[in-house]
Amino acid sequence: MSTRGEARLQVRTLLGRLGRPSSPVGAVNMAVHRASTILFDTIDELDRAKSERFEKGILFYGRFGTPDVFAFEQAISALEGGYGTVAVPSGLAACVLPLVAFLKPGDHVLVTDSVYEPARTSLSQFVARGGVEVTYYDPRIGGDIAELFRPNTRMIYLESPGSLTFEVQDVPAIAAAAKARGILTVCDNTWATPVFHRPIELGVDIVVAAATKYVVGHSGAMLGTVTAHEEHYRALREAANWLGYRVSPDEIFLAARGLRTLAVRLRQHHENGLALARWLETRPEIRRVIHPALPSHPDHAIWKRDFSGATGLFAIVLDAHSKKQATAFVENLSLFGLGFSWGGFESLVLIGDPAHARTATRWKEGGILVRIHAGLEDAGDLIADLDHALGVFRAAGRGAAA
Ligand SMILES: *Cc1c(COP(=O)(O)O)cnc(C)c1O
Repeated sequence: MSTRGEARLQVRTLLGRLGRPSSPVGAVNMAVHRASTILFDTIDELDRAKSERFEKGILFYGRFGTPDVFAFEQAISALEGGYGTVAVPSGLAACVLPLVAFLKPGDHVLVTDSVYEPARTSLSQFVARGGVEVTYYDPRIGGDIAELFRPNTRMIYLESPGSLTFEVQDVPAIAAAAKARGILTVCDNTWATPVFHRPIELGVDIVVAAATKYVVGHSGAMLGTVTAHEEHYRALREAANWLGYRVSPDEIFLAARGLRTLAVRLRQHHENGLALARWLETRPEIRRVIHPALPSHPDHAIWKRDFSGATGLFAIVLDAHSKKQATAFVENLSLFGLGFSWGGFESLVLIGDPAHARTATRWKEGGILVRIHAGLEDAGDLIADLDHALGVFRAAGRGAAA
């Protein structure tokens, strides 16, 4: 395949072309390489591979990657606009990798209060064991984050929007403040994917993401990616090696296949999510719909400036007097599954509890937060299902009041 002019192609075209190492038999999809040992013809070649093993695309030993892994990593780098990507075994492994690679005892890290909760749990382990100091910050802080800088501040960890509460951060302002002080910025880009948001172009140093969600897209594989500029790439590669990270070639194959349909799926998730959100906004049982693409969202202007689309994940605050009443709503949905994760073809719901995970900000909404993932089903069918479950929800409310 010629790569002439690749840089000028649109994302939707690139998604069909990137990450396809040439196949000896002309197959359209990548060959899967299951390998531990890689054989060399000579000691010279073996020694050279060993000394170059942390460079991009060097075949050395299975754990360091094979051509399928390298091709997928290169595809994600091109989409995110970075120099190199390290594929890792899960999204959480991606969140943790920059912490391991760059933080040492005595360092201070600023973390958004809206961070994915398991990443918060990992951070608390770094604090407990390594003497790293963590300060959580209000996701709406913008350039005022500079007021929280200390002499030992090494890193800022962003996630925009937060994947439970959907605050959109002023990424360019935070990145500029960090850059002025030589502080590293890391941003979790799982929600938007590089199709809708490219934090590296907005000044961020390192992007982490759970490919498990929209890239894989079918709830059938787990994978993470860490993308960085050349100056940070090698340290990330080395840390992935100390940690013993290795990604499955099957997960890589499924994630690469997911790229082919990513843009069309995202457009449908965006449309379905907005259709549901707009309908829910008209309903008296809902106190608030939290969706960055709605003009009612407090960060709508930032979303419009920095993102080219929304995906299918948003939240509502139910006017519920108890978790039991909210449970009546979610358990009476038949087209929305009840379970963790999102980004697959199917719709999901989850009851969230943002208040208990926060330290820098207070979650002051009354009612009960329900996170909704709009899948690829017919939006009219999904709305009819929500309508039915809201009927049960109202009846449950009357029952409790009587
Ligand atoms: C799901 C998720 C992760 C973790 O991904 P896994 O593959 O489940 O480990 C990280 N960040 C965000 C924002 C997520 O939604």
